[in-house]
Amino acid sequence: MDLKKNIGIFADFPKAGISFKDINSLILNPKAFRYAIDEMAKVAKALDANIVVIPEARGYIFGTPLAYLIGAGLVPVRKPGKLPGEVTSESYDLEYGSNIVEIQKDAIKPGDRVIIVDDLLATGGTMMAATKLIENLGGEISGIITLIELTELGGRELLKDYFVHSIVTYP
Ligand code: AMP
Repeated sequence: MDLKKNIGIFADFPKAGISFKDINSLILNPKAFRYAIDEMAKVAKALDANIVVIPEARGYIFGTPLAYLIGAGLVPVRKPGKLPGEVTSESYDLEYGSNIVEIQKDAIKPGDRVIIVDDLLATGGTMMAATKLIENLGGEISGIITLIELTELGGRELLKDYFVHSIVTYP
């Protein structure tokens, strides 16, 4: 199935120079959504992970059904101030703007094998911050899976120490 037919492209959103890839049309189409999750699961199953980490907000969409399919627990990574209890944070740069992300300290245990799932890999800043959050808590990164990869933004190079798999690529 050609998933690109189901991904909307919006020039200059949310600001000038950004070619925004919109997955909302893909998740609206049940066949495309199922196909995307099944393709991610084929790869995820081989990674032998017990935890799927999902960056807020679009990581939730793909990571949740994936965790269900492979029988892993889910751990949200969220914007500051959203998670109760003890948290640890990382700041990072985005393709547009910058951000801070947090994880609950007791969510990852030493020896956990973790897959991080997001909708899109651009500069890799979000993923890199997530790997630090997980590794600082003693977790091991089994792999990184995204639906979309923007290959010219260097995310894969930034994440060269990790297994990175994407389903659809754009230059
Ligand atoms: P990055 O940290 O640069 O790899 O950016 C990844 C995050 O930003 C993903 O969670 C995406 O949701 C969002 N993002 C960055 N660039 C785009 C884009 N061109 N189209 C859609 N979402 C994007």
